[in-house]
Amino acid sequence: MRWSFRIFTLAGIRVEMHVSFPVMVAWFAWSQHDSRGALLTVAELLLMFACVLLHELGHALAARRYGIPTREIVLLPIGGVAKLERMPEKPAQELVVALAGPSVNVILATGIAAALLVMGVTPEQAFARADQGLLEFLLIGNLMMLFFNLIPAFPMDGGRVLRALLAMSLPYARATRIASQIGQGFALVFALAGVFVLRSPLLVFVALFVFMAAGEERAVVQTRSSLSGLPVSAAMVTAFMSIETRHELQYAADLMLAGDQQDFPVLEGGRYLGMLARTDLIKGLREEGPTAPVGRVVRTDVEPIDAAWPLERAWQVMRAGRHAAVPVVMRGQLVGLLTLENMSELLMVQEARQRHAGVA
Ligand SMILES: [Zn+2]
Repeated sequence: MRWSFRIFTLAGIRVEMHVSFPVMVAWFAWSQHDSRGALLTVAELLLMFACVLLHELGHALAARRYGIPTREIVLLPIGGVAKLERMPEKPAQELVVALAGPSVNVILATGIAAALLVMGVTPEQAFARADQGLLEFLLIGNLMMLFFNLIPAFPMDGGRVLRALLAMSLPYARATRIASQIGQGFALVFALAGVFVLRSPLLVFVALFVFMAAGEERAVVQTRSSLSGLPVSAAMVTAFMSIETRHELQYAADLMLAGDQQDFPVLEGGRYLGMLARTDLIKGLREEGPTAPVGRVVRTDVEPIDAAWPLERAWQVMRAGRHAAVPVVMRGQLVGLLTLENMSELLMVQEARQRHAGVA
């Protein structure tokens, strides 16, 4: 993640800290009245973040049991993120992975409460003086983390728990849709409470973030499920034009203006060499002039994909490389062009079909 630095590697997982975290610790320590208060604040925040790290490790180690590696864990002032390579799609596995984090907080809170009891502190006393003692602070911190994470809204763990439970009896995409709508409902309630009751801009901001994250989870899962089972050849454009490296940029511009193709495969001696995207063409016209050869601005880092590939895989490649169009080959021959525009049209058709099947 940007603006974060590695602090150590634990169980093969890179643990990073966002730069805003030490800034926050310093800020809170600075705003204390005396050095004792400052020291206590630093200890509290560091230990609380150790708890966040343990929570994220809970997710990561549970995912590892199902063969899913974790790239990194990033600690932010608002909490942590464990970046799993993917989420398990088997509902029972997702349930275990989602619950593994909050379980860590249950264990920590229970342990701290037991320690406090041994020291003669009752739960009521602990809640009353959470701002004075280290253990009391950690107890409340862990309970808050547990409560917050179990709110049934993406991207919180509770949203995944809800989806996993729904997916045990419903198709995955439908379970995601319902879970994300419930999550957005919660976000709306929080936003309204933030505006009218608690007058807290922070709560409104968090609610807005949850609302958008829930919508995004739904969109990604919907796209994947609509694309699943289809090959690249089902969505590619077969009527397209290509150009040669020796052609002038003006020739490509004329082709673009004459039709609705925006990205052109570029050939050299009949063989695929790269792609000429509209933005590169315009930039080339401005910087190199209309008589410059296409070969000067062609992008050679766009690898062709195979017509037999699953569309889902092609979509991931295009998303990762930010390509608007990729060439499609079959037995080494250029046979089509896969564009995001075409794919979104296919998605609309597929979704309309599925909805129709749903109501019928
Ligand atoms: Zn979690």
